Amino acid sequence: MGIDAFTYEPLPGRVVFGAGSLDRLGEEIERLGVNKALVLSTPGQQSLAEDVALRIGARAAGVHAGAVMHVPIETARQARERAAAVGADACIAVGGGSTIGLGKAIALEFGLPIVAVPTTYAGSEMTPIWGVTEGGVKRTGRDPRVLPRVVVYDPLLTLALPPALSSVSAMNAVAHCIEGLYSETANPIASLMAEDGIRSMGKSLPRIVADPGDIGARTEALYGAWLGGSVLGAVGMAIHHKLCHTLGGTLNLPHAETHTAVLPHAAAYNRDAAPEAMARAARALGVMDAPEGLYDLAASLGARMALRDLGMREEDIDRVADLSVQNPYWNPRPVTREGVRALVSDAWHGHRPARR
Ligand code: NAD
Repeated sequence: MGIDAFTYEPLPGRVVFGAGSLDRLGEEIERLGVNKALVLSTPGQQSLAEDVALRIGARAAGVHAGAVMHVPIETARQARERAAAVGADACIAVGGGSTIGLGKAIALEFGLPIVAVPTTYAGSEMTPIWGVTEGGVKRTGRDPRVLPRVVVYDPLLTLALPPALSSVSAMNAVAHCIEGLYSETANPIASLMAEDGIRSMGKSLPRIVADPGDIGARTEALYGAWLGGSVLGAVGMAIHHKLCHTLGGTLNLPHAETHTAVLPHAAAYNRDAAPEAMARAARALGVMDAPEGLYDLAASLGARMALRDLGMREEDIDRVADLSVQNPYWNPRPVTREGVRALVSDAWHGHRPARR
């Protein structure tokens, strides 16, 4: 296999990684010259956010624990008002993709630097992609201003992430890696990260489910999350992300769980059209066939593998198929209504995607 022509544009940013790295947050804030940081979290992670604010002392301008899934416009407005009221010169987003998304909504308006302290594996901290939901529709875009300036990855903060949430969040990271391998804009560096990201998650997840306090496994999974986020930030995604975006936006299905149930079927859809990507993914998982390996990994972790178990009704299969073929993302195998319908139906039933 040769090397195809490619374009590669590395994104700026500083990553501080390792157990206990939250202790270095103060230095990082000082290094950025920040004097009034607004600390963001979900209501459920408020006490962690307060701890973070205490750590930076006088450089904290307060805690805003108003983040919710998919950044509804009202929550973005409230957070922007709060940031303006306290005269914030930076945001520290402590949490998963929802909290980092709220930080991005503020940065989009005011251009403030974001410091991200991720506590899930979703990967938003490594991307310039923002999203805001208004009137049931999620608008997304890319803007370099929303890319966090510093990311502090401390695996100690992930010990409290319940095993079920850890598994689906990690499969979300694996989805970025799988689609990165067969992306229209794939490049050798992103593919290295993608393959190693899949390997890290495949190795660490069974250990996390067996023992959520295994710091070695937690560290490896967070490393995989960094790689997954980096791939998402670096190259374009394909049918899997389009479908999950549609399912989340129109049916309000839970983000990471939807990724988990759809991924084996999206990979199966592209199985014959992207043989090199499939071989690399299979090698990373230590299996013969990537779609089957993805299914078996997630199922072995106890994840729900059928969209019907996530609240999707059978009559929605056609609607989702219709919406997913409108403005389709580039995909290695042409996106057809019939093909996508079969994919969604398989994910709805939760079949194992065996070769036919
Ligand atoms: P989330 O941020 O919604 O978190 C899920 C829940 O877990 C929340 O209640 C949160 O408080 C809790 N939680 C988070 N970390 C925890 C921990 N360590 N211990 C205990 N509880 C914890 O979930 P997510 O999957 O990280 O993010 C999903 C959102 O992120 C979606 O809206 C998705 O579209 C977005 N996203 C955006 C990008 C991007 O590049 N823009 C990338 C990935 C995901």
